[in-house]
Amino acid sequence: MSTALVWFRRDLRLCDNPALYEACVTHDHIIPVYIHAPAEEAPWQPGGASCWWLQQSLAALNQILCERDSRLLIRRGNSLSVLRDLIRETGATAVYWNRLYEPAIIARDKTIKAALQQDGLQVNSSNAALLAEPWTLRKDNGEPYQVFTPFWKASLRRLPPAAPLPVAEKITSPAVQPASDSLDSLELQPRIPWYTGMLDAWQPGEEGAQQRLAHFCDHLLQDYHNTRNLPAVDGVSRLSPHLHFGEISPRQIWAAVSAQCDGNPLERKGAETYLRELGWREFAHHVLYHWPHTPEQPMQERFAAYPWRNNTAELLASWQQGRTGYPLVDAGMRELWETGWMHNRVRMIVASWLVKNCRIPWQDGERWFWDTLVDADLANNTLGWQWTAGCGTDAAPYFRVFNPVRQSEQFDADGVYIRRWLPALARLPTPWLYRPWETPKAIQQETGFKPGINYPLPVIDLKTSRAEALAGYDRIRS
Ligand code: FAD
Repeated sequence: MSTALVWFRRDLRLCDNPALYEACVTHDHIIPVYIHAPAEEAPWQPGGASCWWLQQSLAALNQILCERDSRLLIRRGNSLSVLRDLIRETGATAVYWNRLYEPAIIARDKTIKAALQQDGLQVNSSNAALLAEPWTLRKDNGEPYQVFTPFWKASLRRLPPAAPLPVAEKITSPAVQPASDSLDSLELQPRIPWYTGMLDAWQPGEEGAQQRLAHFCDHLLQDYHNTRNLPAVDGVSRLSPHLHFGEISPRQIWAAVSAQCDGNPLERKGAETYLRELGWREFAHHVLYHWPHTPEQPMQERFAAYPWRNNTAELLASWQQGRTGYPLVDAGMRELWETGWMHNRVRMIVASWLVKNCRIPWQDGERWFWDTLVDADLANNTLGWQWTAGCGTDAAPYFRVFNPVRQSEQFDADGVYIRRWLPALARLPTPWLYRPWETPKAIQQETGFKPGINYPLPVIDLKTSRAEALAGYDRIRS
């Protein structure tokens, strides 16, 4: 009788899980294990919102394993030592896992694979997270891609991906199970309950992910290209945290989107646009893999010399707390704090405001997102911040400074999004909703709204700060 360990990491699902599937068809007994070792991911160990999600997701995974007469074993400590302990305790002869692509995790996994192989173990790792792994695509000259469009064109030539794997028929446990730590002992759940809004907004776990996908395909996919930029509308998939934690795979998404389009997703505008967004996720992993320093350093080196503003603690705090005086920025930051997620259009606007209008280093914004997003993902977050800051691969041109007032007029034309997140402004008519500091006296009297009392005055002037940002750019350009 052979026993295998299946090491779950960020692949917290049973369907289309190659490590689990292959272990189940090859071995008699399977021990699913999660090892809590956040220090091994330093300096990017999971932030507060991610820890909250992880707690829920591990509980959900354990539940679906229990429904199949298995269970998730939990241990904490150095991953290699824990795996070796478990191998000793269970007599396992093989270890299976699905690959991850963050620099610290790649280095750790390489060490663990070599050590276990030296111990005489059979070690199998698979791709469960991407349509194509980052080293599989190269330009004709052998270099990695730095620009999205040719990257995606080359990816499409290899797609569609293989069909998703089914759940293994049996996940058979050994007669005697090793002892498990309790999930609560990992102390993932914050002591102060700031997560109640997230509880209302999400259902972490594989079932929640499948429900989101079904809702998106049935109701939103067809019109995605029209609605994806409107933060007030239920128009995007909100699958990002589920994808980050591997509760769903891009192969499963591709298959579901394709099924909705009679097998021709690239010929339907909504589906084609949506799959292209999954392409950005692939591209982000490609960039992180080939330029592993980019979470900390600008891709374009000259930006390391950018003249950032001094003494920005107050400005940064006003941004974090959603009290900058610019309604769309503040609405986004409050959505983030309340739900752990923010609409992509608003992410670009709040990031541009911080980096360009305030001249605060993009790394400060990246860190705040890292701690507060439930979908905080090293590849996507790095790409998003460097793109908005203008210093990444395929970046938005530096001189493109989003104007939060104009953006709200264009993308929140009825003011529904701003009113939802900023109740203090709810009674203002739309022209003043976007620039409350200019509200005429008569409207103030009518609505009871007082600029600077009910809602902050702008903490920075858009026009002068834009000019200063561009002057800073000129300095590093010359
Ligand atoms: P949908 O529009 O439904 O898109 C489907 C999927 O495609 C997403 O779930 C995501 O996996 C992928 N995707 C979409 N847009 C992008 C993009 N621009 N880059 C990479 N992948 C994309 N996304 C994260 O998952 N984690 C992050 O930490 C993150 N940080 C960001 C920071 C900034 C400053 C910016 C501008 C963007 C960031 N994004 C991040 C990308 C994007 O905003 C989110 O992926 C998206 O808003 C998630 O919502 P959704 O699942 O409804 O997206």
